[in-house]
Amino acid sequence: MKIILAAPRGFCAGVNMAIDSLDLTLQKFGPPVYVYHEIVHNQYVVKTFREKGAVFVDTIEEVPEGGVLLFSAHGVSPEIRKAAQSRKLHALDATCPLVTKVHLEAIKYAKAGYTIILIGHEGHDEVLGTMGEAPEAIVLVEDENDVDKLEFPPGTELAYLTQTTLSVDDAGRVIKRLRERFPEIHSPPKDDICYATQNRQEAVKLLREDADVVVVLGSQNSSNSQRLRELAAEQGKTAVLVDGPQDLSLEQFSSENTVLITAGASAPESVVENTVEWLKANFDATVETSVIREEDVKFPLPKPLRAFAAEQA
Ligand code: SF4
Repeated sequence: MKIILAAPRGFCAGVNMAIDSLDLTLQKFGPPVYVYHEIVHNQYVVKTFREKGAVFVDTIEEVPEGGVLLFSAHGVSPEIRKAAQSRKLHALDATCPLVTKVHLEAIKYAKAGYTIILIGHEGHDEVLGTMGEAPEAIVLVEDENDVDKLEFPPGTELAYLTQTTLSVDDAGRVIKRLRERFPEIHSPPKDDICYATQNRQEAVKLLREDADVVVVLGSQNSSNSQRLRELAAEQGKTAVLVDGPQDLSLEQFSSENTVLITAGASAPESVVENTVEWLKANFDATVETSVIREEDVKFPLPKPLRAFAAEQA
């Protein structure tokens, strides 16, 4: 068996920042630290933090008055921030700056009187947060069919934004349809699909040809991991999305296989290592890394944690 490790893969700058933020918040304030939604969409990461005293909540009412609360990498709506304030919570914000960028674009367009078409997945934490910035001005579309159903009064000024973790190809098709239907539509000055999503998809696209099986490490609720699996499965290739080797079975592989391994932006490298070890132990596998693009992006910690982080360094 030959294993090809796709690079880049795994943790992005936003996830690294969010995870460091939660670690530092736990150290600074001690448990319990409440986290609004999963800190990142990965079962392994969530379980590890639960064991350290993080409590993941879906409503602000679950946090006792005066509690310490961290907003996850996916961002929150102003309504949630207000609810945290009225409950007198000590709130810290680990929203990825690339998600914040989309929020700011939504606010800017809404203030200028635009109707915003947000391309994204209904119910995703990031989409809920972005829509909450200007609920009366944002319409969500998931695909080209949704675009076909859109109707606006004459003279409506339109702009589109996208969720950060979409399939580049799928989003491109939706944008093409939007431009066909609404040629005057405004686009964001810079792509909303983030660098990490784009780079991981590019690596899979370039490397999938050489593989018999593609293993994507990540959780089922991770949007960018799901997109990697879909991309790998195009053209009939076998592609699986799993949290780790415990979810794989020997029957899915043979010793003649070339296996491409990648990982979503919220999947830790340790699960990649465990999967490689499992394959090596069962199939006498050799391993090579294929680097498609270098990444050196880093995001700063939330301001209230910076001095504490410097003291710990
Ligand atoms: Fe930020 Fe992109 Fe990572 Fe999401 S996937 S946390 S938008 S860098």
